[in-house]
Amino acid sequence: MQASLNTLHRWIFGNVTFSAREEYEAFRYKFLLVLMLTGAGFTALFVVGEYSKLNRIQDAHFVAMHLFTAGALLLWWLLRGHPGRFLMLAWMYESICLLEYTSSLWFVPTDELRLMWFYVNVPGVFMLLGPRAGWGIVLLSAAILLGSNAYMPVPYSHNAMATGLVALVYLGVFFHAFCARSMSYFTRMRDYNQQLEALASHDTLTGVLNARAYYQECERQVALARRMRQPYAVLFVDLDHFKRVNDEHGHAAGDLVLKAVTQCMNASIRRTDVLGRTGGEEFSLFLPSTRRAGAVQLAEALRKAVEGCMPDIGTQRLKVTASIGVAVCDHTLLDMHAIQQQTDTAMYVAKSLGRNRVSVFEDLQGISAVR
Ligand code: GH3
Ligand code: MG
Ligand code: MG
Repeated sequence: MQASLNTLHRWIFGNVTFSAREEYEAFRYKFLLVLMLTGAGFTALFVVGEYSKLNRIQDAHFVAMHLFTAGALLLWWLLRGHPGRFLMLAWMYESICLLEYTSSLWFVPTDELRLMWFYVNVPGVFMLLGPRAGWGIVLLSAAILLGSNAYMPVPYSHNAMATGLVALVYLGVFFHAFCARSMSYFTRMRDYNQQLEALASHDTLTGVLNARAYYQECERQVALARRMRQPYAVLFVDLDHFKRVNDEHGHAAGDLVLKAVTQCMNASIRRTDVLGRTGGEEFSLFLPSTRRAGAVQLAEALRKAVEGCMPDIGTQRLKVTASIGVAVCDHTLLDMHAIQQQTDTAMYVAKSLGRNRVSVFEDLQGISAVR
């Protein structure tokens, strides 16, 4: 059951994915595709009605209905899988709708309720294209109704026209209010959600990704690197003797140091590198598309940046250093957990060799500290 629903969904909407930010765009895209299909479906039913002599339609309008059905199906097919074409195709669909309704005004005098199509059309335009477009279509519909009345085989009475026009304006007012309110509510909710997401994924002290968000991003990066057959490297940065900073200068000074060191590290990395605070005074850095030489160079630059950072704790500037472990995934199929363990090992070797240094896992094979 679920599989056939999925197939139907793919058949109607194509293979398209939208990000969480694009929820409203996804709704508009799907809604328009469904409108196009239902529009084509209903007109096709009228066409079948004429062929089977159940519902007679005048020749000129019969041609218009064929054209509308074909046009709506063509537009559905052009939009399916291409959300970037939404605006252009939405306007094209709206144009053929208005032509079809106008044709019914002129050529189907026996259908006294045909002006209803102009009303049914208005809410969709407000929802799909916004209040400005909605009002444009309200005015255009009013102009078509007024302008066509003189040319209709059986014109509407002045009373009927007045009611029709006032009702159109009412419809515009209702949908303007409803759409504007829903949009502002929707935008506010989306912004709140983004703020919550940012709060939940970032470390409040340093502003970089927290451990959970960092590892989540790393998993995504590893999958991407595997698909693109790209190497990547991971650095593990642990501040040296950080406990002493707290013991000698207080916890608040320790916090200032953590903030300053993060800023220094942030200034030394590329925009595509991912920095996360994985522990108290421990940071991890994921370097996409990076081989051994590049990773070692960056690790060395980071070590120097931390050493030269000299955070200001109010009473003095402190010298802080870091030990950095490096591991590289070149052609092997290491997962994030395995490579993280290698950087841990390399970092502890850097500590044992005297701190304030960089140690590369691949260079450790002969060193007893590795085991
Ligand atoms: P080593 O060179 O071996 O890494 O020594 P260390 O003192 O840095 O290592 P240890 O793991 O013993 O101490 C880490 C300290 O980091 C202990 C803890 O009080 C401090 N710390 C952890 N999180 C925070 C924080 O958010 N703010 C401050 N000020 N200190 C923190
Ligand atoms: Mg530590
Ligand atoms: Mg430490």
